[in-house]
Amino acid sequence: MARSDDEWRRLLTPEQYRVLRRRGTERPFTDPSADDGGRAGGPYRCVGCGAHLFDAGAKFDSGTGWPSFTGPAEAGAVELRRDFSLGLPRAEVRCRRCGGHLGHVFDDGPRPTGKGYCINSAALDPGPTGPSPSGNSKPVERQPESVA
Ligand SMILES: [Zn+2]
Repeated sequence: MARSDDEWRRLLTPEQYRVLRRRGTERPFTDPSADDGGRAGGPYRCVGCGAHLFDAGAKFDSGTGWPSFTGPAEAGAVELRRDFSLGLPRAEVRCRRCGGHLGHVFDDGPRPTGKGYCINSAALDPGPTGPSPSGNSKPVERQPESVA
Protein backbone atom coordinates (compact mmCIF):
# COMPACT_ATOMS: atom_id res chain seq x y z
CA MET A 1 0.00 0.00 0.00
CA ALA A 2 1.69 3.12 -1.18
CA ARG A 3 0.42 6.36 0.19
CA SER A 4 2.02 9.73 0.13
CA ASP A 5 3.06 11.43 3.30
CA ASP A 6 0.25 13.96 2.80
CA GLU A 7 -2.31 11.18 2.55
CA TRP A 8 -1.09 9.63 5.78
CA ARG A 9 -1.30 13.00 7.48
CA ARG A 10 -4.92 13.32 6.47
CA LEU A 11 -5.87 9.75 7.31
CA LEU A 12 -4.26 9.50 10.72
CA THR A 13 -4.51 11.47 13.90
CA PRO A 14 -1.35 13.44 14.69
CA GLU A 15 -0.35 10.85 17.29
CA GLN A 16 -1.02 7.93 14.94
CA TYR A 17 0.96 9.67 12.24
CA ARG A 18 3.85 10.32 14.57
CA VAL A 19 4.04 6.68 15.61
CA LEU A 20 3.30 4.92 12.33
CA ARG A 21 5.02 7.16 9.86
CA ARG A 22 7.68 8.81 11.98
CA ARG A 23 8.54 5.78 14.09
CA GLY A 24 7.54 7.63 17.19
CA THR A 25 6.91 6.12 20.59
CA GLU A 26 3.93 7.09 22.65
CA ARG A 27 4.18 7.73 26.35
CA PRO A 28 3.78 4.60 28.45
CA PHE A 29 0.32 3.94 29.87
CA THR A 30 -1.28 5.99 27.11
CA ASP A 31 -3.53 2.98 26.73
CA PRO A 32 -5.16 2.25 30.09
CA SER A 33 -5.66 -1.37 29.07
CA ALA A 34 -2.00 -1.82 28.13
CA ASP A 35 -1.25 -4.02 31.07
CA ASP A 36 -4.57 -5.74 31.47
CA GLY A 37 -3.08 -9.05 30.45
CA GLY A 38 -5.49 -9.57 27.61
CA ARG A 39 -8.82 -8.96 29.21
CA ALA A 40 -10.11 -6.59 26.59
CA GLY A 41 -9.93 -5.83 22.96
CA GLY A 42 -8.96 -7.60 19.87
CA PRO A 43 -8.60 -8.50 17.20
CA TYR A 44 -6.12 -5.71 17.02
CA ARG A 45 -5.80 -4.14 13.62
CA CYS A 46 -3.39 -1.69 12.09
CA VAL A 47 -4.86 1.82 12.21
CA GLY A 48 -3.05 2.55 8.98
CA CYS A 49 -4.46 -0.19 6.79
CA GLY A 50 -6.74 -2.45 8.82
CA ALA A 51 -4.49 -5.50 8.67
CA HIS A 52 -5.15 -8.02 11.42
CA LEU A 53 -1.98 -7.83 13.51
CA PHE A 54 -2.52 -9.21 17.01
CA ASP A 55 -5.05 -11.14 19.03
CA ALA A 56 -6.07 -10.52 22.61
CA GLY A 57 -5.09 -14.09 23.47
CA ALA A 58 -1.45 -13.25 22.84
CA LYS A 59 -1.55 -10.15 25.03
CA PHE A 60 0.31 -10.22 28.31
CA ASP A 61 1.09 -7.87 31.14
CA SER A 62 4.64 -6.75 30.43
CA GLY A 63 4.64 -4.02 33.04
CA THR A 64 6.03 -1.61 30.48
CA GLY A 65 2.91 0.46 29.94
CA TRP A 66 2.64 -0.52 26.30
CA PRO A 67 0.36 -3.20 24.91
CA SER A 68 2.52 -6.31 24.68
CA PHE A 69 1.99 -9.53 22.78
CA THR A 70 3.83 -12.82 22.60
CA GLY A 71 3.47 -12.86 18.84
CA PRO A 72 1.53 -11.56 15.86
CA ALA A 73 -1.80 -13.01 14.75
CA GLU A 74 -0.05 -14.46 11.73
CA ALA A 75 3.64 -14.75 11.13
CA GLY A 76 3.32 -12.74 7.94
CA ALA A 77 1.32 -9.91 9.47
CA VAL A 78 4.36 -8.01 10.63
CA GLU A 79 7.91 -7.65 9.52
CA LEU A 80 10.94 -7.10 11.68
CA ARG A 81 13.79 -4.78 10.93
CA ARG A 82 17.03 -4.12 12.66
CA ASP A 83 16.88 -0.79 14.38
CA PHE A 84 20.04 0.83 15.66
CA SER A 85 18.49 4.20 16.39
CA LEU A 86 19.39 4.10 20.06
CA GLY A 87 22.86 2.75 19.40
CA LEU A 88 21.98 -0.80 20.31
CA PRO A 89 20.29 -3.33 18.14
CA ARG A 90 16.59 -3.73 18.59
CA ALA A 91 14.09 -5.32 16.26
CA GLU A 92 11.58 -2.83 14.95
CA VAL A 93 8.09 -4.22 14.29
CA ARG A 94 6.32 -2.94 11.22
CA CYS A 95 2.99 -3.69 9.62
CA ARG A 96 3.83 -5.72 6.58
CA ARG A 97 0.95 -4.38 4.56
CA CYS A 98 1.44 -0.64 4.94
CA GLY A 99 4.91 -0.46 6.41
CA GLY A 100 3.70 1.47 9.43
CA HIS A 101 5.90 1.43 12.51
CA LEU A 102 4.25 -0.45 15.37
CA GLY A 103 6.84 -0.88 18.07
CA HIS A 104 9.70 -3.19 18.97
CA VAL A 105 10.17 -6.82 19.85
CA PHE A 106 12.28 -7.93 22.79
CA ASP A 107 13.58 -11.30 23.88
CA ASP A 108 12.22 -11.13 27.41
CA GLY A 109 8.65 -12.20 26.76
CA PRO A 110 6.86 -15.08 28.46
CA ARG A 111 6.82 -18.60 27.24
CA PRO A 112 6.28 -20.23 24.85
CA THR A 113 7.73 -17.73 22.39
CA GLY A 114 10.00 -15.81 24.76
CA LYS A 115 9.21 -12.79 22.64
CA GLY A 116 7.61 -9.61 23.77
CA TYR A 117 6.11 -7.48 21.05
CA CYS A 118 5.90 -4.05 22.64
CA ILE A 119 3.42 -2.12 20.53
CA ASN A 120 2.21 1.46 20.59
CA SER A 121 -1.51 1.55 21.25
CA ALA A 122 -1.73 4.47 18.80
CA ALA A 123 -0.85 2.04 16.03
CA LEU A 124 -3.60 -0.40 16.95
CA ASP A 125 -7.31 -0.35 16.32
CA PRO A 126 -8.32 -2.06 19.54
CA GLY A 127 -11.31 -4.05 18.53
CA PRO A 128 -14.47 -4.77 16.64
CA THR A 129 -16.35 -1.81 18.09
CA GLY A 130 -13.89 0.63 16.68
CA PRO A 131 -14.40 2.16 13.28
CA SER A 132 -12.72 0.28 10.50
CA PRO A 133 -10.08 2.58 9.14
CA SER A 134 -9.63 0.73 5.93
CA GLY A 135 -12.93 -0.29 4.42
CA ASN A 136 -12.76 -3.08 1.98
CA SER A 137 -11.31 -1.26 -0.93
CA LYS A 138 -8.38 -2.91 -2.56
CA PRO A 139 -5.16 -1.00 -2.49
CA VAL A 140 -4.88 1.06 -5.60
CA GLU A 141 -2.20 -0.25 -7.86
CA ARG A 142 -0.08 2.36 -9.40
CA GLN A 143 -1.70 3.63 -12.51
CA PRO A 144 0.10 4.68 -15.61
CA GLU A 145 0.46 8.39 -15.42
CA SER A 146 0.00 10.36 -18.53
CA VAL A 147 2.78 12.82 -18.50
CA ALA A 148 1.88 15.95 -20.31
ZN1 LIG B 1 -0.78 -1.41 8.32
